[in-house]
Amino acid sequence: MAFNGANLKKLDKKVFLSTATMHGEEMKYIQEAYDTNWMTTVGKNIDEVEKIVCDKLGCKYAVGLSAGTAALHMAVKLAGIELYGQNAVGHGSLEGRQVFCSDMTFDATVNPIVYEGGTPVFIDTEYDTWNMDPEALRKAFEIYPDVKLVMLVHLYGTPAKIDEIKAVCEQYGALLIEDAAESCGASYKGVQTGTFGTHSVISFNGNKIITGSSGGMLLTDSLEAANKVRKWSTQARENAPWYQHEEIGYNYRMSNVIAGVVRGQLPYLEEHIAQKKAIYMRYKEGLKGLPVKMNPYDEANSEPNFWLSCIIVDKEAMCKQVRSDNEVLYKQEAGKSCPTEILEAISSVNAEGRPIWKPMHMQPIYRLNGFVTKYGNGRAMTNAYIEGEAQDIGADIFARGLCLPSDNKMTAKEQELVIAAIRACFE
Ligand SMILES: *Cc1c(COP(=O)(O)O)cnc(C)c1O
Repeated sequence: MAFNGANLKKLDKKVFLSTATMHGEEMKYIQEAYDTNWMTTVGKNIDEVEKIVCDKLGCKYAVGLSAGTAALHMAVKLAGIELYGQNAVGHGSLEGRQVFCSDMTFDATVNPIVYEGGTPVFIDTEYDTWNMDPEALRKAFEIYPDVKLVMLVHLYGTPAKIDEIKAVCEQYGALLIEDAAESCGASYKGVQTGTFGTHSVISFNGNKIITGSSGGMLLTDSLEAANKVRKWSTQARENAPWYQHEEIGYNYRMSNVIAGVVRGQLPYLEEHIAQKKAIYMRYKEGLKGLPVKMNPYDEANSEPNFWLSCIIVDKEAMCKQVRSDNEVLYKQEAGKSCPTEILEAISSVNAEGRPIWKPMHMQPIYRLNGFVTKYGNGRAMTNAYIEGEAQDIGADIFARGLCLPSDNKMTAKEQELVIAAIRACFE
């Protein structure tokens, strides 16, 4: 037998991957912005949110911006100027430079490197946390000794191997930017993600663990860096009675209305994490006995925020699945399954899952960029396995993994139906 959804119970109300969870206080602060007429990119909500984030995460400065992507752009620009100096035009600070970057991630991590004229070189993933492999990073510095900047992501809210990554960066004198867009509230050895980079970034996008509908922040311990970003993000106005400009500017500041939403949300960060963790643990328990594993984390040293629960199908239990650039085929097989079939099963009970982020080295737009695995130049690899392990770990996790419905508001009962649908795939 193989999957047959005929007798599965459907959810009355669709359960999404991850949506905003509102509490009421958000309205109070939106109303406050309205009543005081601070319907702009300045105001008390922004000031408060910047303060609260510094207190909660333990950084010195936080700058509210229009999106996590805008914050990443500012972080990359800061690092480019710190490393290579400011050129005459004031943008393209990474022109002609290569930057090491997590490979299995959302493209918002990577694009800002290109905005500044840089060329990302992708570093393969490790199986222990699904983040940048420190061994592959070390290999990359051997192949590209001139690189001075590393962009690290904590995928799905799971902290990367920060000590190892930082040690490699220090050995080669490289700066680290942390994309903590998905990991707000997650910690490593008791320290919050978003505080390990020279500059770091969090996001308040609509599906993140704390949201403003949109928005993001740059986190830094450098007053000079924070001030620069405040200036650049408000069109780089000089201190003069008129609009005086000596540098390229951006319109990247956070809205005071959106900051009101974030201000109402932030007190619930711990509660949201507890809900997400409960979801992860229920999946872990409910899927016991199936040939699948949850997205892993370092249980001794890290506490994820459990933003998304994911699974990976054991190699031996994969049915045949092939993907082109925009289509997928699979062949049903008794006792086996694959992400495509499981996603269809989840969708058939009225819930939403998603494939793993497709690795950047596999994306057509980045097909010419470098890619380094722990074995060396990933672009020069054959498809052979070394010691029974895939050489291209990102491609392997993409092939066998998927994100499960992880909405805070999903009840245990609803989750049971999702689990039943996944179980049915392995019949
Ligand atoms: C969401 C996300 C971003 C971008 O954040 P926005 O606020 O949507 O611009 C960047 N990196 C990762 C890994 C993300 O998941």
